[in-house]
Amino acid sequence: MKANLEEIYKNIEQAALKTGRSPEDITLIAVTKTVDVDVINEAIELGVNNIGESRVQEILRKYDLVKDGPTWHMIGHLQTNKVKYIIDKIDLIHSLDRLSLAQELQKRAQQHNIFVNALIQVNIAEEESKYGLYGDAVIPFIEEIIKYPKIKIKGLMTIAPYAENPEEIRYVFRQLKELSEELKKREYPNVEMKYLSMGMTNDYKIAIEEGSNMVRIGTGIFGRRSY
Ligand SMILES: *Cc1c(COP(=O)(O)O)cnc(C)c1O
Repeated sequence: MKANLEEIYKNIEQAALKTGRSPEDITLIAVTKTVDVDVINEAIELGVNNIGESRVQEILRKYDLVKDGPTWHMIGHLQTNKVKYIIDKIDLIHSLDRLSLAQELQKRAQQHNIFVNALIQVNIAEEESKYGLYGDAVIPFIEEIIKYPKIKIKGLMTIAPYAENPEEIRYVFRQLKELSEELKKREYPNVEMKYLSMGMTNDYKIAIEEGSNMVRIGTGIFGRRSY
């Protein structure tokens, strides 16, 4: 795992420098779904401080056992009826993709008297099997979301289609970046385009070249998942 992380940090650095950015501007999220707590804690000892999980059950099971209070990211589809379990545990929700979820986040955040930080999940490639708003639905969605004062939009997230050759999906990352630039210009209240969460094991180098500053890597750190 140490060697894997070193390799990834090196690649992040190269991709960042290639686009004139500093490697420190890029957050590595270790995707720990299916990974045991012992292994997660080892990763934390090696310097990992951002953890990504995709299932509420798993977050609840691991939350108190993971050391050193890392930053927790919810990267998977979030069911409305489960928001209440994680609202006070997750630092950034990457999968805000519908108004019913926004309503529930607003309600629970209000109850806890906190703000909730979220990214809007965008299905750039318009794959039917995936969650996320289509690109042209994002602006109308944000214009609704700004009515929910407890939700702070911190950027956009996408999951690119799997491609043997990730060059084929470079356009996905480019389009998400363009969308974030467009949104920046509009200066909506409570909407910041601080994070672009894009890039996974197979495609993070290209995602960074196209402007990602948050990569979500599981397999590249922990090896293949066994479900
Ligand atoms: C599982 C998962 C990842 C990590 O994928 P790897 O290919 O293992 O790096 C990233 N993002 C999301 C949303 C995931 O569900």
